[in-house]
Amino acid sequence: MIKNKTAVILSFVIILLIVLATLWHKKSAPLVVIQAGHEGRTKGNTGSSYSRLKEVDWNIYVANEAARKLREWGISVKRVGADTKVIKAKVAVAIHFDGAPKPCSSGASIGYQNKDSKEFANRWKKLYKSYYPFKWQKDNFTENLSKYYGYNYIKADKFLVLELGEITCKKQTKWLKPRLKTIAHLVAANIAREFGLDARVKLK
Ligand SMILES: [Zn+2]
Repeated sequence: MIKNKTAVILSFVIILLIVLATLWHKKSAPLVVIQAGHEGRTKGNTGSSYSRLKEVDWNIYVANEAARKLREWGISVKRVGADTKVIKAKVAVAIHFDGAPKPCSSGASIGYQNKDSKEFANRWKKLYKSYYPFKWQKDNFTENLSKYYGYNYIKADKFLVLELGEITCKKQTKWLKPRLKTIAHLVAANIAREFGLDARVKLK
């Protein structure tokens, strides 16, 4: 009898722990992960640069501003750098600007892995094409996009790697630089729409 009672109490405690762990996990898992490409890296792929412009600085600025905007709209966001522990999310977006050996031979592009992400990517392309006036590369046109290292530890239902323009092209950086905030808000709006929000951005 006593043995049974102990077993019942023990089972109850175990079930309670499982329920609490599940609830805690649900609460702690963010809906959205925004990654600033190359952030925190001191060696390896530290990102493109051109004269005094550094890709990583732009990535951080855009990632921070997109995260801030999403939080303002009530969406839970986790901002991560290049290297992070394994993390789950509904939507993840990595921010980059491309660099090309031959200046102005590249532009904007998108990397992704699955069908749901492809549809999400198409919506982004439509939105950003209405603003960004330069060249687009084919989706997944480099291994950095198609086999992005972040896929290994950011586990999201939809994951886009965005190259928002070419930082090694003066014509593009001249246009991009004063518009980084608006671009960040476009990135945020495209994500917010995934959650049913009618997010709009004034184009400047
Ligand atoms: Zn990059």
